[in-house]
Amino acid sequence: MLADIVEHLLCPVCGHDVRLDAGALRCGNGHAYDVAKQGYVSLLVGSRPPGTADSAEMVAARADFLSAGHYRPLADALAECVQLRITGAERGEGDAFRGDRFSAPPDAAAEEAYGSGSVGSERGAGSAWRQAGHATEPLIVDAGAGTGYYLATVLGAVDRGIGMAFDVSKHAVRRAARAHPRIGAFVADVWRPLPIRGGVADVVIDVFAPRNGPEFRRVLRPGGAVMVVTPAADHLSPLVEELGLLSVDEEKDRRLARSLEGFVAAGRRTVEFDLELAPGEVAGVVRMGPSAWHTDAVELAERISRYISRDIVKKREKVWARAAFHLSIFETEPGSRDVP
Ligand SMILES: [Zn+2]
Repeated sequence: MLADIVEHLLCPVCGHDVRLDAGALRCGNGHAYDVAKQGYVSLLVGSRPPGTADSAEMVAARADFLSAGHYRPLADALAECVQLRITGAERGEGDAFRGDRFSAPPDAAAEEAYGSGSVGSERGAGSAWRQAGHATEPLIVDAGAGTGYYLATVLGAVDRGIGMAFDVSKHAVRRAARAHPRIGAFVADVWRPLPIRGGVADVVIDVFAPRNGPEFRRVLRPGGAVMVVTPAADHLSPLVEELGLLSVDEEKDRRLARSLEGFVAAGRRTVEFDLELAPGEVAGVVRMGPSAWHTDAVELAERISRYISRDIVKKREKVWARAAFHLSIFETEPGSRDVP
C-alpha cells in the first residue's frame, strides 16, 4: 500500500487518522483493518442490504468482458478527460476542458463521437504539478470502481498520480488492487461516508455506479470535478429492442443533475462505438447495463438464448450492437447551486 494513499484515509468507525502498521491500517482508538494478502483492505462498517455486492461469478464475467477490450474506447475517453483536467489544473487553467469539444450541445454530440485519438504521456510532469502549488500527487477517486479497469486506464494515461478504488464487492476490489501499481483498493459502501479526508481528491470518477453527491463534494479539492459515465438512450441498440428490454429512461438526465446538486455541469461528451460480440458475451454486456434490463435473470437468460439461436444471428456468428455513453463533467463551485 502506497504511503501517499494511506495519508488520505480515515478510520471508517471514528474518523481518526490511520497508519499502516504490521499488516493493518490502525487508528489511534484501536480500530484495525487488515491488509488482505491480495493487497486490498476492507473498510466496510455496519450492515448493508444483502445481494447488493457483485458475486465472484459476476465480477469474473465483467473482468473477462472488459479485458477483451470491448469498452476500451470508453476507458480511453475517460482517461483523456481526466488527463486534461489534471494538466489544466497544473497550468492554473480552471476551465481548461471547457473547450468546444467537451461543452458541445447534445445535438452536436454525434459528430464528436469518440474517434481514435491518442492520449499523450507527460513523463516527469509530477514535479511541475508540485511547482504549481500542489503538495501531493493528484488523487483520483473511483466510487464504485468494480475491477479497477477504468481507474487503471486513467492512471496509465495521466502517467502520475494515485488512485483510490472503492467498491462494495470484495471480489471486485481484489481485482482492483492488482489493476495498477498506483491504486489503493478498499471495500466500502459508497452510499455511506467515504473513509477519506475532505478536500483531497482532484477528480472523482463514477462509471455506472451510485452517485453520493454530498460525499463527492466533501472529498474533492476546491476546483475538483466529478466525471460520470451513464448509458445514452441508444446504448446497445438494436440489441435491447431485439431482447424486448426497456430503453433507458428519459428522466435520467434530471436524476443525474439531482444526484449532484451543488455541482455545476461543465460539459458533456458522447462516446459511441460499435461492439462485435460473441454470442456468449451478450448476457454479460446486458448485465452491465441499467439494472432495469436485468431484473429477472431467468427470463433474460431465456430471451438471450432464443435470440442468439435465431438463424440470422447464427449465420453471422457475431452479434453487433452500438455502445453509446454520456461522459458528463461536474465541477465544484462554492456558492453556486445552478445545476441545469
Ligand atoms: Zn478508529
